[in-house]
Amino acid sequence: MAKIGFISLGCAKNQVDCERMMYRVAEAGHEVSPGIEGCDVVVINTCGFIDSAKSEAIDYILLTAQLKEMGSVGKILVTGCLSQRYQEQIMQELPEVDGVLGTGSYTEVVPAIEALLSGETVSEFGSIDAPEQETGRIVTTPEHYAYIKIAEGCDNRCAYCVIPYLRGKFRSRQMDDVLYEARLLASSGVKELIVVAQDTSRYGTDFPEHQRLLPELLRQLCEIEELEWIRIHYLYPDEIDDELIDVIAAQPKIVKYLDIPIQHCNSKILKLMNRRGDGEYLKQLFKKLRQRIPGLVLRTSIITGLPGEGEAEFEELCLFLKEMRLERVGAFPFSPEEGTPAAEMEFPDHEVAQSRAAMVETIQSRIMDDYNEAMIGKTLRVLVDGYDQENEQYFGRTYADSPEIDGRVWIACDEDLREGEFVTVCVDGLVEGDLSGYLVEEEI
Ligand code: SF4
Repeated sequence: MAKIGFISLGCAKNQVDCERMMYRVAEAGHEVSPGIEGCDVVVINTCGFIDSAKSEAIDYILLTAQLKEMGSVGKILVTGCLSQRYQEQIMQELPEVDGVLGTGSYTEVVPAIEALLSGETVSEFGSIDAPEQETGRIVTTPEHYAYIKIAEGCDNRCAYCVIPYLRGKFRSRQMDDVLYEARLLASSGVKELIVVAQDTSRYGTDFPEHQRLLPELLRQLCEIEELEWIRIHYLYPDEIDDELIDVIAAQPKIVKYLDIPIQHCNSKILKLMNRRGDGEYLKQLFKKLRQRIPGLVLRTSIITGLPGEGEAEFEELCLFLKEMRLERVGAFPFSPEEGTPAAEMEFPDHEVAQSRAAMVETIQSRIMDDYNEAMIGKTLRVLVDGYDQENEQYFGRTYADSPEIDGRVWIACDEDLREGEFVTVCVDGLVEGDLSGYLVEEEI
């Protein structure tokens, strides 16, 4: 039996992949270590989406390599998007790395580890289009929430994005498998289930019947008794149809929070980037969603400095954001990724893209401040996430906050609270962009 450590980088989808590898390793009789020091093998599950993610992954590899040099870790196995993307370069340029597995070879983690332990090197890249292999997970999020990945890959081919080259074509998991996993998670204490995929709205369209099955999947997830919140991320705007809107509006367990990445609103740029829909479509969609789903909180992501973005197009984006008043926006400067069509196009300087992203953040912080101020005096249902030793206070989240990416609610109270418990909080102030309030008795 060997001791195996894991480092998971990047998005929640990558985290699920890592949790599955951990399960396979534990099933094979090895010890999954909570830290990496003293491990016989360290698996680094990387992200290779944009430059900053690549640098982060390389930093972690180098840090682990130092530990290896000092003798406190044995072998290094790099998995995930970075290894898929730079198949040969990783082992050539980072000689401390003993093995690489591509995104089509997660299932091979145990034989790979065992090969490393017997002194061999490993370099394996299975098909990235193969159907997802079902397996268990060792969940690494706090007990009360978990991500559930309902599909892998993407068929959208946005011109700036490497994901389809790293993750393959869109493949939905069978609904029964998703429901089985959701029931297991719920029975182990999960209260909030967060539905993810590269494009959740397309779920089911790759099955022979070619149907959009996300509404049906959501209906069935809502029937799992122990689940209290179901949150949906990464909806592609033009796949959001009336049936989906009706399900979200009607099911109390589905939190009224939608993450719909749009990247831009200018029609010419969207077309150039091979994204469907135009600015007017996006406006009408957001208006319709707000009308049909009371209390809806909207999240999106924006890329500044895309090919075709001059001053006028950026101004249009700013006006769009001011008009739409989306509550949560992540703004990222364009990163020209080799191998993608957008990298071959003309685009603004990186400094311009960066300063525009900062301008978007300024616009958004005003919208966020207004949103937070409007919460003062309101009584909200809060899911307790934990206790902060430094602030000596409990904290949690409302439906409007997804874990890790959105804000917190600080809770003043004299009693002991449990992680994963729902409480009612009356908001009476703001602390550095977060809400704060006190516990009240009433249930909502
Ligand atoms: S929909 Fe998302 S993951 Fe798919 S190609 Fe576009 S940006 Fe990439």
